[in-house]
Amino acid sequence: MNNKKTVLVLGGGIGGLVTSSLLKEKLKEDIDLQLVERKKTFDFPPSYPWLMVGMRRKEQVQKNLDLLRKKKKIQVLNDEVLSIDVEGKLVLTKGSGKLPFDYLVIALGPEYSTTAIPGFSEHARHIYDLESALKFKEDVEVFNGGTIAVGISRTPFKCPAAPYEVSLLLDDYYHKKGIRNKIKFEFFTPEAIPVPAVGPDIGSKVLELLKSRGINYHPKLKVSEIGANELSFESGEKLSYDLLFCVPPHAAPRPVVEAGLTDETGWIPVNAKTLETAHTGIYAIGDVASIPTPKGYTPFLPKAGVFAHGQAEVVANNLAAEITGRGKTREWSGEGSCFLEVGKGQSAIVKGFFLAEPRPDIEFHMPGKVWHLEKVAFEKYWMHHWF
Ligand SMILES: Cc1cc2nc3c(=O)[nH]c(=O)nc-3n(C[C@H](O)[C@H](O)[C@H](O)COP(=O)(O)OP(=O)(O)OC[C@H]3O[C@@H](n4cnc5c(N)ncnc54)[C@H](O)[C@@H]3O)c2cc1C
Repeated sequence: MNNKKTVLVLGGGIGGLVTSSLLKEKLKEDIDLQLVERKKTFDFPPSYPWLMVGMRRKEQVQKNLDLLRKKKKIQVLNDEVLSIDVEGKLVLTKGSGKLPFDYLVIALGPEYSTTAIPGFSEHARHIYDLESALKFKEDVEVFNGGTIAVGISRTPFKCPAAPYEVSLLLDDYYHKKGIRNKIKFEFFTPEAIPVPAVGPDIGSKVLELLKSRGINYHPKLKVSEIGANELSFESGEKLSYDLLFCVPPHAAPRPVVEAGLTDETGWIPVNAKTLETAHTGIYAIGDVASIPTPKGYTPFLPKAGVFAHGQAEVVANNLAAEITGRGKTREWSGEGSCFLEVGKGQSAIVKGFFLAEPRPDIEFHMPGKVWHLEKVAFEKYWMHHWF
């Protein structure tokens, strides 16, 4: 009889990759582990801003997930999750039918609701998946003057620093190309200050950065419709543009919503320390989870890969301890950091403990070459350590 516990990890992005790799490393053959991912590749989003301005090529930010099977003996199922039965402990997939589980780790990230805003799909560009980033890169290359609008459609979205990074990197790119004087930058967001999750002091430093580079900032503007060369906002204001970058609206993937796993936030509520959902043995990590921050600057923790990574380590550790009856359990601390690439070979960084009491303990380091080199090392770690 097979007494091995079955663990299903849904989603082979940052959270799912770390969870499945660590579980396999710890439990080897003593576990029935499957990683279900609809893409054949692992793509590394923190490098997309570099890709957008030609500093990376597609093959530098992508790995074939088959490497996990070959090198780490992880069973990777290239399939689409259709539904999750939390009571019956079953996941239904498109190609392989029903998959039973003892433990489930949901790391499905967000879906992009590009149809939620009229005109978004036709006119907006973004870098929130690899194919879209490659498409935007083509537009960036041929653009030769006019107004570039960079903005955020809805909150929450992954990597709160990314759209700021996009505007600063584009500013540097067109400077180097010698046509910056022919371009006007307009930044729009429904937020009141930049990167509100890290507090107003850091937000004002980011604002200074934008101003110092001639990027106009328009807060508290929620886009309602996108025309061929004009944005309309709920306030009635309008903004003309020639090239548009806009963060797409994010939502939890349909299977987790239909499983009844989400709450009024639209995301999966979890225990902040263990990442367990309301259902025993079912965990949610990374972007698909919502973690309240009662003492934070925003009601919920921002969505970021470093959090998905740290949460995956805790879940893998605790599942291995529970399955083997050996080892200590751990609690997630809310520690994280985020780079803000500003061009000119420099990066700023935000780091700290986002769940610290009585207030989040977060520091901002002004742009420098050292942080840029650290981001390069961060990318190398991701593209090599896990494959
Ligand atoms: C431009 C950009 C820059 C960023 N920069 C940084 C940074 O510098 N630092 C940082 O920490 N974070 C950064 N992030 C955020 C980071 O990439 C995400 O927070 C992180 O990827 C979340 O990990 P995850 O595992 O929760 O979800 P994801 O990495 O999104 O993985 C989810 C996976 O689930 C799969 N999936 C979804 N639905 C299904 C289904 N039904 N069936 C099968 N598979 C499915 C998807 O294909 C995907 O591979 C950035 C993001 C972007 C877009």
